[in-house]
Amino acid sequence: MSAAELEALRRHFRDPSSECDVGPGWRSLVLRCHEAVVAEFPEYELRAVKQKFAALAFQASPRPWKQGGDWTQGEADRLRTLVAGFTAASERTCERCGEAGTLRETRWIELTLCAACESVVGRDGRLRPPAQRSRKRGSGHVVTGSPNAE
Ligand SMILES: [Zn+2]
Repeated sequence: MSAAELEALRRHFRDPSSECDVGPGWRSLVLRCHEAVVAEFPEYELRAVKQKFAALAFQASPRPWKQGGDWTQGEADRLRTLVAGFTAASERTCERCGEAGTLRETRWIELTLCAACESVVGRDGRLRPPAQRSRKRGSGHVVTGSPNAE
């Protein structure tokens, strides 16, 4: 997800300081979800983009909320259906790398990960390890670092 693409999505956050709180493997899912939603609801409002129970939670409303409501049940249902497709896809996508993943219940937090990422994500469940240069060529043995080597 490029900065410009991210910016297009972030404009929809109710709270402009919100961030997309998902791992890098889901960024393109989030972007495609945004594109699907914005195509039908150009003014949709985002409350949060995060991981919930190992699935993508793209919490949006058809448009900015107003007293008394500002959208029909049909619109709300349509939005929910659009988002549900991406939530379902996230349940099969590694949140860390974007490869095929499955539900992992080996930590305090449930995550959807592929086998390779399951083996490197630490017990704290953080998907972004401290900046580490794996596969640095020509400088000796830089092996993929232990996830616990913080
Ligand atoms: Zn992975």
